Amino acid sequence: MGHATVSEQSRHKPPVVPGAAKSGGIKGLQGITATNSNTKISASRLRTVAAPSQSERLSAANLGLNSERMRTVMIERLLSQGITNDRVLAAMQLVPRHAFVDGALASRAYDDAALPIGHSQTISQPWVVARMISIAAEVPGAQKVLEVGTGCGYQAAVMAQVFSQVYSIERIRALYDMSREHLRALKLARIRLTYGDGMAGLPTAAPFDAIVVAAAGLKIPQALMNQLAVGGVLIAPEGSSTQRLVKIQRTGLTNWERQELEEVRFVPLKAGVQT
Ligand code: SAH
Repeated sequence: MGHATVSEQSRHKPPVVPGAAKSGGIKGLQGITATNSNTKISASRLRTVAAPSQSERLSAANLGLNSERMRTVMIERLLSQGITNDRVLAAMQLVPRHAFVDGALASRAYDDAALPIGHSQTISQPWVVARMISIAAEVPGAQKVLEVGTGCGYQAAVMAQVFSQVYSIERIRALYDMSREHLRALKLARIRLTYGDGMAGLPTAAPFDAIVVAAAGLKIPQALMNQLAVGGVLIAPEGSSTQRLVKIQRTGLTNWERQELEEVRFVPLKAGVQT
């Protein structure tokens, strides 16, 4: 294993904004709210891009042409936050994030935040999605990728614009069903969804060129590392109260190199399934 390099991200934790969840906060997650879950922990870089105006937000309730403009603002913000991969930016310009959240939250779908999707889970902050997929996209010729933690299906939809074979696994039955509906509505049914425990990976489809984990465990499961192709990369948050994005590259049959990236806050990676 290689040594860890810690990035120069600020350790500053943003204040928790109460009342962000659709029905009085996400229950059962200590200290985790819709605004700090599956997000980067750091002060945003200086924003040169204006957030959508109040009227843009309000009219986004009947998101028509407006969602295109809101996505453009989101893309400009991602650029200002250091996301540079053209394929990832193009994918996120295309995928309607508002179609993956509850209608009541649609007007906030392009905010720089995670949002609740029910069952104490969240749709990841756009920056988190962009960052993780950008790292996966650096693997030369990457085609077959696995996501652990489908949630509402948004990240899988973005991955499907960048990679030709996308597998995703979710442990909560209701979210698995919901993501299937979202992806079918967008004609993205070719994404292979599995209901199961992603800590075990998907041995029948392995090896993967990249694995993206959308929930944080204390330690990255060895089973997932074993399902990487040599040269492949795994990106996952690791830790409990303090978490970091970790990039692991498989450099040989028995060799993996580890690099620590930004401090983040994700929902927990849990064993087993929930019916
Ligand atoms: N990828 C989502 C983020 C979902 S939040 C997006 O597009 O925004 C993380 C998801 O990981 C949750 O739905 C949670 O249920 C799921 N999860 C947690 N542990 C898991 C496991 N062991 N296997 C599969 N999914 C898991």
